[in-house]
Formats: sequence, C-alpha cells, structure tokens
Amino acid sequence: MSQEIGVTGLAVMGANLARNLARHGCRVVVHNRTRARTDALLAAHGDEGEFVATGSVQEFVSALQKPRRVIVMVQAGASTDAVVEELMAVLEAGDVLVDGGNARYTDTIRRTAACAEKGVHFVGAGISGGEEGALLGPSIMPGGSAEAYALVGPLLEGIAAVVDGTPCCTHVDGDGAGHFVKMVHNGIEYADMQLIAEAYDLLRTRLGMSPAEIGEVFAGWNEGDLDSYLIEITAEVLRHVDADTGRPFVDVVLDQAEQKGTGRWTVQSALDLGVPVSGIAEAVFARALSGHAEQRGPAREALPGPAAPPEPVADREGFVEAVRQALYASKVVAYAQGFDQVAAGAQAHGWRVDRAALATIWRGGCIIRARFLDRIRQAFTDDPGLPTLLVHPYFRDAVAQCQEGWRTVVAEAARAGVPAPGFASALAYYDGLRAERLPAALVQGLRDLFGAHTYRRVDREGAFHTLWSEDR
Ligand code: NAP
Repeated sequence: MSQEIGVTGLAVMGANLARNLARHGCRVVVHNRTRARTDALLAAHGDEGEFVATGSVQEFVSALQKPRRVIVMVQAGASTDAVVEELMAVLEAGDVLVDGGNARYTDTIRRTAACAEKGVHFVGAGISGGEEGALLGPSIMPGGSAEAYALVGPLLEGIAAVVDGTPCCTHVDGDGAGHFVKMVHNGIEYADMQLIAEAYDLLRTRLGMSPAEIGEVFAGWNEGDLDSYLIEITAEVLRHVDADTGRPFVDVVLDQAEQKGTGRWTVQSALDLGVPVSGIAEAVFARALSGHAEQRGPAREALPGPAAPPEPVADREGFVEAVRQALYASKVVAYAQGFDQVAAGAQAHGWRVDRAALATIWRGGCIIRARFLDRIRQAFTDDPGLPTLLVHPYFRDAVAQCQEGWRTVVAEAARAGVPAPGFASALAYYDGLRAERLPAALVQGLRDLFGAHTYRRVDREGAFHTLWSEDR
C-alpha cells in the first residue's frame, strides 16, 4: 500500500487506526487538537511506519497531496461538527473527508450534503472492533458516494480485518448508510450482551454455579454454534478474579449497565421505521432498569416474588443445555430483527444495502463477529429477498431444534422470578410471527369502536367501520 492519508483525532481509536495505516505502508499525516497526543503517538510508535506530525489544521491539510484524504476520529456529535467545519475551511473540491466516529446517521446525511456543496466527498464510515480492532483490523462500514469510495475504499479495505481472504469492509451505500448499519450493529451488540447476561444469571441463580464454573460453560459453548467474540470474552470476564478482594470480578462490579446511545438510537429509528426490534429494545430497557437504583431499592423491599421458593432444578446438565438453546434461538431472533431494520432503513432512505455483503463484513473485526454470521451471509446469498432470516431453512431448523429448551428456560425464569426479558420477548416474537391468527383483530375492533379508525375484513377488500353506538 503506497498511499497517503491524514488522521485527525488521536485518542485511542484514531491513534490505533493511524498505526494500522502506517503498518500497512501508508504515509500517515497525523493531527490532534491537543498537540501532546500527537507527540505521544510519535514518541511511542513513530518507528512503526511513516508518520508526519502536524500542529495546526492548516498545516495538517497542507501536508497532504490532492485529492486529500482525511479520517476524522473524534467524539461524535458537536465535536465532529466543529472538526468538520474547521477542515472544510481548508479542504477543496475533490478531497475526501471520512468520519470514522460513531456518528448518528442523520448527522452524516446532513454533513454529506453540506460538504457536497463545496465539492468535498463526505464518507460516514462505521468502524467497529474497539481499540484492538482499530489497530489489528476492524470491520469498516463506509457510506458516501461510489466516487468517494473509489478514492478511499481500497485503503480502508487494506487495513480491515480479513476473513477467508475477504476484507471486512465494503461500500454499504450512499450518505448515511454506513453509519446506519453501524448503529444497527451496535444495537445487535446490545441484544447479544443482554442475552449472554441472562444466560449467566439463570445458571447462577437456578443452578448455584460460580462465575468461574459458568465461565467454563461459556468456553465450551464457544466451541460450537455460539462461537463468537462476545461468548469468548464472557468466559474471560467470568473467570476473572478481583485482585484486591479475591472475589469473582463480576461480584465487585456495580450491577448498573451504562450506555453511550447507539442502542437507544437503534430503537428510536426502529420505532420510526415500524420494525419490531424487540431484542434490542429489551436490552436498552434492561440497562435503563438496572440504572434506576432509586426504584430498585424500594422495590426490592416491597415487591414479593413467587409464593413458594422455586424447586431446585433436577436435571442440571439438561438445564445448562436448555439455556444454551434459549441463548442461541434468542440470538438468531435478535440478528433477524437487526437485518430487518437494515432492510427497512435502506428502503426508507433509498439505499441499496446488500445484507449478504453486510453479514460478510461483520464476520471479523467487529464486536458481534461470530461463526454464525457466515450462515447469515449464506442465507442472504441464497435469497437476497428473504422476508426474515428465521424462515431460511438453516435457521428455521436450527431454531426449531432449540425450541424445547428455549420454552423450558422462559417458563423456568417466570416461575422462579428471574428476569429474562431478552429470552422471553424473543420467544414471544417467534410465536407472534408464526401465529395463525393474532389478537391484532381485537385491537382493530377496539380502535374502530372508540375512534372510528376503521378495519379491514378477511372476506372483502376495503376499509370498514361499524356503527357501534347503534349496536350497543
Ligand atoms: P473520544 O474519547 O471519543 O474522543 C477524543 C478525541 O476527540 C480526542 O482526540 C479529542 O481531542 C477529540 N476532540 C474532542 N472534541 C474536539 C473538538 N471540539 N475539536 C477537536 N477535537 C476534539 O475518542 P475515541 O474513544 O478514540 O473514539 C473516537 C471516535 O470513535 C468516537 O466517535 C467514538 O464514538 C468512535 N468509536 C470508538 C470506539 C471505542 O472502542 N473507543 C469504537 C468504535 C468507534 P483532544 O485530545 O484535544 O481532547
């Protein structure tokens, strides 16, 4: 790769991305608002490749050959706007500005249009993989025009993770498409983690297993269909012992999950698009509930659980397997819902997002990387118009095989008073999708009675309204 690029924003992500580019033979012009970060990067890693340190934005841009290619890796939101504005004052028509931060896709659409007025290509690129991914090969989801992708795509593909010889980077489609799919990726990540947490909780509360023992179970699961980065690191976290107290690490961590916002954005977008992403929503709400200490305290005192203490689980091995099945099936539901949202978002914004290509670039580098993403890639390759992942023969059969354990676990959680919103809502979604008749018909009747909202009939075309007051 004998290329050149500028990177501004040298906190953990930007610095590691710059190092990744330099290690791949790229001349990397680096800049950061606070000069000390630039100097620290060069002092620690300047020997890894060709870096050019710059001080001012003017000096940064001037050090690049035209058409200039610049990656912005700063805090999303107002900081990105400030940096883009500064850069736009010096960039020229034909230059490419890549925003690799976690921008909200609607901001990316706005920035793309604003930059286009000056002829500058704006590429909103979702980048996943955390600091390690940025250094060793992330999954990259660039949006923007095809023209812009031609200018930066090969460079980004060159530093992305590689699975089966294919880089985990593809042109998603125009303006905000890259950040849209990155948002959904993060939403799926929320759902995945919630499901993992529920599996852990059930094994702990119902079987009395220690975190280390559960870590062993997860390590075993990582050898099978559940093989994924998140399952792998779950085993690591559960086996970890707090150095200060000697207690399991997970027991010294406050049980209040925080969030930066991408999960919330995913659910907000899904509500607008009318896509039921119940797995992601339950995960976002579960984090919110965990944070409401002011309610949890009084509720813990006041609210009774099941009248009789739950019977100990007789078949322990069987229960572990049932939890694995519940986790796998619920995970398939969460991914199916996420891919539905990608399709709906693409349709709403006029993007052509290839779901098989997306599954391909999520196989490596990113946080949700998992063996079964290859199955998802195959499913959307077999049928690009698949109505839902759940009806593809592979997933239909895989989930069907998990069904018994899944139902056992949801019932057991309800009986024992253990919260399992992810497992339960995934099962309700599955049953809702496959239902012959839904009670939505009654909802329509109620809407027509109180609000004359009309309803459609099973036996005739058209909209109908019943004169309820005369009937009553
Ligand atoms: P960060 O903590 O999100 O941001 C710090 C960087 O932003 C610093 O370089 C800081 O410069 C710069 N900055 C903030 N406000 C600025 C302003 N008004 N003008 C100029 N520069 C400004 O850094 P990060 O964790 O490396 O993440 C960078 C981006 O990648 C973010 O959008 C983040 O959401 C995204 N991302 C992060 C991860 C991750 O695992 N951390 C993963 C994927 C994506 P100073 O040094 O001068 O303060």
